[in-house]
Amino acid sequence: MTTKSRKKIYEGKAKILYEGPEPGTLVQYFKDDATAFNAQKKAVLDGKGVINNRISEFVMTKLNNIGVQNHFIKRLNLREQLIREVEIIPLEVVCRNVVAGSMAKRFGLPEGQQLPRSIIEFYYKNDALEDPMVTEEHVTAFNWANTQEIDEILAMTLRVNDFLSGMFAAVGITLVDFKIEYGRLFEGEFSRVILADEISPDSCRLWDAQTGDKLDKDRFRRDLGNVIESYAEVAKRLGIMGDMPKVIEGGITS
Ligand code: 5GP
Repeated sequence: MTTKSRKKIYEGKAKILYEGPEPGTLVQYFKDDATAFNAQKKAVLDGKGVINNRISEFVMTKLNNIGVQNHFIKRLNLREQLIREVEIIPLEVVCRNVVAGSMAKRFGLPEGQQLPRSIIEFYYKNDALEDPMVTEEHVTAFNWANTQEIDEILAMTLRVNDFLSGMFAAVGITLVDFKIEYGRLFEGEFSRVILADEISPDSCRLWDAQTGDKLDKDRFRRDLGNVIESYAEVAKRLGIMGDMPKVIEGGITS
């Protein structure tokens, strides 16, 4: 199926979803586009989509292996992966281990302060409202998810955090925080919640454990330079750079 002939289901800031080859499947295409501050800041970062597709494949596969069900089926090519179609729950679920970003700003805390325990926050996914933070009360009152689904989301998010924190620590990276999304997979009249979207340096804060260097999207948000080189460094440490073609000068080599 070529990109031209297939039906586009949805286009977001960093990804496009196309109709998949079988009912219940979609093709998730990773763009090179980077946006920040609710798309007020935009750029095209050559090779970002390729790296994020590969990192997300790696992470989702590992999570599947430990029983965290997710939408990933298989990677199709450099920029595309086959995924299960789910009904997206309109929440950005953020899990934090270390104070950074909006938490530092909201509470006037220094970035880098270790949290006494991991904290999970919910944000309502709505660009026009700039993704406001919400409580479980809002989530149930507005029927974005029911209490059982919230419990599943909280338990899965903590498992993802434990696993990813260990995985990144083993390669000298601190998982500061991350954002994930969930969706409902329907089986007849029943549905269950599974992990969806992507897990990549676009959606995680990843700091070098020794130097504190940022290896994530904050390099773009804060104009720190070497954005792609840092994403490539994450892939290199995870041992998956070898699978990728040369897409950036001096960065990705096949
Ligand atoms: P913060 O709330 O501090 O801005 O973000 C917390 C974490 O969630 C960071 O790792 C950040 O990258 C991620 N995050 C929050 N909102 C978004 C979003 O709209 N898109 C992406 N890709 N990541 C987000």
